[in-house]
Amino acid sequence: LCTSMVLRGRGRIVPASSTSARNLTDPGRGRGRLSRPPASPGRTSTLYCVGRPKSASSESSSPAAACRESKAALHLCRDQLTARRGPSSEMESDPAGYLNSLRQLVEANRDLVSAVGETGLDYDREHFAPREVQMRHFRSQVSLACQLRLPLFLHCRASHAEFRAVLSEFASQLPSPPGVVHTFDGSAEDAAELLAMGFYLGLNGLKTADNLRVVSGLPLDRLLLETDAPWCEVKPSHAGHSHVTPSSRFESRKAERWSPGCMVKGRNEPACILQVLQVVAATLGQPAEKVASAAFANTCRLFGLAEAAAPSTVEGDN
Ligand SMILES: [Zn+2]
Repeated sequence: LCTSMVLRGRGRIVPASSTSARNLTDPGRGRGRLSRPPASPGRTSTLYCVGRPKSASSESSSPAAACRESKAALHLCRDQLTARRGPSSEMESDPAGYLNSLRQLVEANRDLVSAVGETGLDYDREHFAPREVQMRHFRSQVSLACQLRLPLFLHCRASHAEFRAVLSEFASQLPSPPGVVHTFDGSAEDAAELLAMGFYLGLNGLKTADNLRVVSGLPLDRLLLETDAPWCEVKPSHAGHSHVTPSSRFESRKAERWSPGCMVKGRNEPACILQVLQVVAATLGQPAEKVASAAFANTCRLFGLAEAAAPSTVEGDN
C-alpha cells in the first residue's frame, strides 16, 4: 500500500540462493551473523528493501513513512543523502504533490532505483485504508511507474480480481518487463493472467497445498524467490515445510539471549531464502541449483541488473 522504491546496491551482485534482499533501514535487524548488514552494504547485496521493522506500529501503510524510509534507504546506498522529514498526511491531503515529490526522488537517484513499490491492494488490511482509498492510490502509483518506465513491485492479498483489473487498465502503458507480484498466493487463473501480461511472480512461505499446486505449474523463467523478511517464514505448519532440510534450519534465540551465528527468534531472516528455494525446487521437481540460477537470472532481468556473479553452489541436502 505504500509507495516507495526498490533500490539497487553498488557493487557485486550475489545470487538469489545467497541473499536477495535486506531490510537495511530496519533498526532492529542488526543482531546476528545471519542478520547483520555487511560493513559495506553495496558490496554484497543485490537489492535493498525499504525498512519494515517487525513491530505492531510499523506495518506503516503511511505513504509519508514510506517516502521517509525510501530516503533512509537511499541514504544507505548513497552515503550522503540526509533528507528526513517528520510524518505527515501529505498523500491524503495533497496526492499530486506527494507523487511529484516521489517522482523527483526517483529522477534524482535513477542509478539506484530499480522499481516502484511496494504498492498494490490488500483487502485484509482495510483498517489501514479502505478499499476505495487503496484503489485510488494504487492506480496513481501504477501510472507513476508507467511514466517513469520502472517495473512495479506489487502486493496483492484477498483482492486478485480488482488487482488484475487495475493492471489491465494500464496494459498498453506498462513498462517491459512490467514488474513482480510478490508473495504470490493466487489461483492458477490469476497466475496465467499476470504471466500473460508479462509479470513475474515472487514466492516465499507457500502456506497451503493449493499454493504448491499453483507453483508446480509456473514457468521457471518467471519466478523470483524472496523471504519477505521479517515476515512470511516457512513455518512447520506450511505445506512445503517437509522440503526444508536440517542444514537450512538455522538456530534461533530470543533477542536477549542472542549469540553470534544465531537468528533472532520469531523473525524471518534473509538467510531463510534457502528454505524458500528448497520448497519451490521440490514443488517444481527441479534441482535446487537450477531453480536458484533461474531465479537469479530473472531478478537481474526484471530489475535491469548486470549478472556480475555466477550463482554459487547451493548448500543443503536437496
Ligand atoms: Zn507485500
